[in-house]
Amino acid sequence: MFSGKWTRSRALWISAITLILVATAGLIIRSREAAEPPQVPFSDLLRDLDRGVVAGVVVNGDTLEIKLADGKVMRTVAPANYAAANSTFIPELASKHVRIEVRNAPDQTPYSYGALALGLVFVGFLGFTLYRVTTGHIPALESRTREAGPESTSVTFADVAGVDEAKEEVKEIVDFLRQPDRFAAIGGRIPKGVLLVGPPGTGKTLLARSIAGEAKAPFLFASGSDFVEMYAGVGASRIRKLFRDARRHASCIVFIDELDAVGRSRGSNSLSHEEREQTLNQLLVEMDGFAPNQGVVVIAATNRPDILDPALLRPGRFDRQVTVGAPDVKGREQILRIHARKVAVDPEVDLHLIARGTSGFSGADLANLINEAALLAVRAGRSVVMASDLDQARDKVLMGVERRSLTMTEHDRLTCAYHESGHAVVAALLPDADPLHKVTIIPRGLALGVTMQLPEGDRYTHTREYLEAQIAILMGGRVAEELFLRQMTSGAGNDIERATGIARRMVCEFGMSSLGPLAYHTPDGPWETDRGAGLSEATAQRVDEEVRELVMRGYEAARQIVAKHRASVRAMAEELLVVESLDADGIRAIMASSSAPAA
Ligand code: ADP
Repeated sequence: MFSGKWTRSRALWISAITLILVATAGLIIRSREAAEPPQVPFSDLLRDLDRGVVAGVVVNGDTLEIKLADGKVMRTVAPANYAAANSTFIPELASKHVRIEVRNAPDQTPYSYGALALGLVFVGFLGFTLYRVTTGHIPALESRTREAGPESTSVTFADVAGVDEAKEEVKEIVDFLRQPDRFAAIGGRIPKGVLLVGPPGTGKTLLARSIAGEAKAPFLFASGSDFVEMYAGVGASRIRKLFRDARRHASCIVFIDELDAVGRSRGSNSLSHEEREQTLNQLLVEMDGFAPNQGVVVIAATNRPDILDPALLRPGRFDRQVTVGAPDVKGREQILRIHARKVAVDPEVDLHLIARGTSGFSGADLANLINEAALLAVRAGRSVVMASDLDQARDKVLMGVERRSLTMTEHDRLTCAYHESGHAVVAALLPDADPLHKVTIIPRGLALGVTMQLPEGDRYTHTREYLEAQIAILMGGRVAEELFLRQMTSGAGNDIERATGIARRMVCEFGMSSLGPLAYHTPDGPWETDRGAGLSEATAQRVDEEVRELVMRGYEAARQIVAKHRASVRAMAEELLVVESLDADGIRAIMASSSAPAA
């Protein structure tokens, strides 16, 4: 990050200067101490003169340095003007054949000159920094908006796939950026601001870049979080700078990632909310400040349009919203193709098949998948990516990296095997559940074991039965542990959390309980919401009861299935202890051979 580099180099400067100053001061003090002769009373000088033991005197204003015949050197201070040229002192010295030397300026060592120079530099530096801070040029904080180099503007629409509607919508911006005058002549109104809305990794930044690339316009990138600072006014000054740069580079694209970081509704009681409000106001002012034909188009991205301040969405600001959703099968295949072009993929590989098995993957996930597969191929010493690499990479992206180095005790492995078998058997037997993809007791990511299901097609909505099945599957692990090992472990914690989450959403969001089709947002619910009306005490209690009811029903369903199909659970757990991982075919074989009674 820029800020890191800047503050580091500044700190380096300051410490270097301090070091030099301290060293110089030390040297001066030492040299002074070494050179300074001892000071004696003035009467000593008079006495020594009388005795005739003074060899020489250096007169330096009223300070006299006395050199005795025996080589001793001392210093004394004479009364004011005592040693002046017109006093009797000098002739007296001369009469006694004392060597007289006169110095006008006070003693100056080269060190003190150095210290003075350094001091001036230091003060100058401080003044300069202060000036920059007060005028909004804060070295540590500016340069966050970078002009994209030619590489980022070389992205074109061909590099973005699976978001055809969004592309269609932003095409006219490209035309506008190419010929702003023509647009103005016709009188067409081009939106000043476009808000790209969609989950992370779906290609919002990429799309914005490709607009700039297509129009061959400069691309100014900023992230909403860059503007969130502790110091009041800093965020606002950075917004000003961003737009100043933009106007200089028109026609151009200004891209603000994570707009929600600055654009959150005002009035929410966050810590630095004054600062945020100031920043947001500045953004609104800047957006109002340029004319539509000035050639600046502001594109912002967010995945939380609901929490944005409504003022941002008014006409003349981000008045156009473009949804950039997760890609469907066709989109995924195209995205895979784009990224597969960059690596050597075996021509036998069927990307369509992989697209079908990666439901729910975002563009970024798919790019990551291809990259992981390439790494696996390299590790295996192959020069092309095979289908098996892609399969393995998908599991890695889906379930996290295998942690084979984690040593589990035998009992942990046993627990894990029964736990995962419980999930898998319940999933295999519930008609509304997604088909099983894999069961493993090799630790992956944070989990000790994983039961993985993959939907057959893309699912956009879920039925009540599907969600209930989901809860039952999550309970299957705990149930199997209870029935086979007579134990409860903390391993079911995450399952329980997820099951409760699903149940709560069923009640509060999806209207799937006896409370009816109403939205029961609770202030401390799983969503940050300012809209949620407060729940009455009685309703809150009923919500809790309904949630409990749903989870317990899932638990009972799982219990019945596991109890009835003990043989399958046992067979699968025992197999897992040997082979550690089972794929869909392996699971099917066990389910078929363990002679489960007809459901
Ligand atoms: P977002 O801004 O929506 O979080 P990004 O644009 O940063 O997502 O996407 C990250 C990376 O994922 C991109 O650089 C690109 O490699 C890949 N990617 C995401 N979406 C797509 C897409 N629709 N087509 C091609 N590649 C994509």
